[in-house]
Amino acid sequence: MNTRDFICRMPKVELHVHLEGSIQPATLLKLAKRNNVSLPAHTVEGLHKWYEFSGFDHFIEVYFAICSCIRSADDLELITNEFIKDRADQNIRYSEVIFTPFTHLPHIPLDDQLAAINRARKSGEEQYGIRINMAPDISRERRPIEDSQVIARWAVKNRDNGITSLGLGGPEVNNPPELFEETFKIITEANFPATPHAGETEGPASIWGALRTLNAVRIGHGVRCLEDPTLVEFLREKQIPLEVCPSSNVCLKVAPSLAQHPLPALMEAGLFVTINSDDPPMFNTNLTEEYLRITDQIGFKLDSIKQFIFNGIEASLIPQAEKQVMRQDFALQFAQLELELR
Ligand SMILES: [Zn+2]
Repeated sequence: MNTRDFICRMPKVELHVHLEGSIQPATLLKLAKRNNVSLPAHTVEGLHKWYEFSGFDHFIEVYFAICSCIRSADDLELITNEFIKDRADQNIRYSEVIFTPFTHLPHIPLDDQLAAINRARKSGEEQYGIRINMAPDISRERRPIEDSQVIARWAVKNRDNGITSLGLGGPEVNNPPELFEETFKIITEANFPATPHAGETEGPASIWGALRTLNAVRIGHGVRCLEDPTLVEFLREKQIPLEVCPSSNVCLKVAPSLAQHPLPALMEAGLFVTINSDDPPMFNTNLTEEYLRITDQIGFKLDSIKQFIFNGIEASLIPQAEKQVMRQDFALQFAQLELELR
C-alpha cells in the first residue's frame, strides 16, 4: 500500500484554515502591486523568508500586512476562487474557512465581502463540486470591543447565506475570552455556534473561558489543554473537537518540533482531534502535507489518518443528514483507493 499516494488522493475535510492566510505568494505580490501596497518582499522567495516567524506577535503583524493587500470585492473573489481551486487539487471536499471581516471593512462593506465570497463559493461548487462555508472571526485586539457585536449580529443574519459559525482570533495573550462575553451572548441566544481560537499561545484558562463564557462548540488549536488534567477530562468527556494544526504550532513555537508535538499525547488522553493547516503558505504546508508529516515524522498509520478525517466530518457544522452522506461517500472512496493502491 502506497501511503503517500493514498494521502494525496484521499477525500478530506478541513475545519481550521484562514482565507487570508491561504493567499498564494504569487497572488499576494500581484495584489500588492495592483493596490500599491508596499510589502517588505517583492519575490516569492522573499515572501518565504518573510514567513519565518519569531513567534505569534511577529506572525500576526505579517498576517495583517497580508490582509492590507485586499482592497476590493474583486480581490476577495479572486483569493476565494484560488482557495477553492487549491481545495480541488488536494481533494478537500468540504472546508469551514475563517476570515477576518474587520480587516477589509475600511475598503469593502460586510455584505459586499460576503457577496464576493459567495460568488466564488457558487462557482467552486459548480466547477469542482467543492464546498466551503465561512467562519468570520473577531480580532481580539481590536477596540472598542463593542464593534465586534456588529460582526456577531451580521454572522447570525447570514446563517443561511454561507456563514456557519463565529470565530475569535488574533493575540490570545492579554485578550481573554471573557472580554467578549457580550458579543458571544448575541450568537448563543440565537443558537449559533462559536468556534474560537484558544489554548495556543495561552494556557488552560483561555480554553476554560472559551468553553464557559463563549460556549465554544470546537476549540481552535486547544493543544495547551494538556497543562490541566481537569480540563483534559472535561474535553474528553464532552468530546469537544480540537482543531489541531501541527506545522503552525511548530512555526509559531507552540511546539518545539513535529516529532515533539503533543498530538500523540492528545490522542492518548482520548480527546477528539481534527487535523488542519491554519495558514498553509505562511507555514510552508497544506492539509495534504500535514497528513504526510504526521505519518512520516510522528508515525501515525492510515487507520488514524482516516479517523482524523471522519472526526472532521463529525465536528463540522453541516446538518447530520449531510454528514451521513459524506461519511458513506468517503468510506467508499477510501475502500476504492485501498484496492487500487494495494
Ligand atoms: Zn487559526
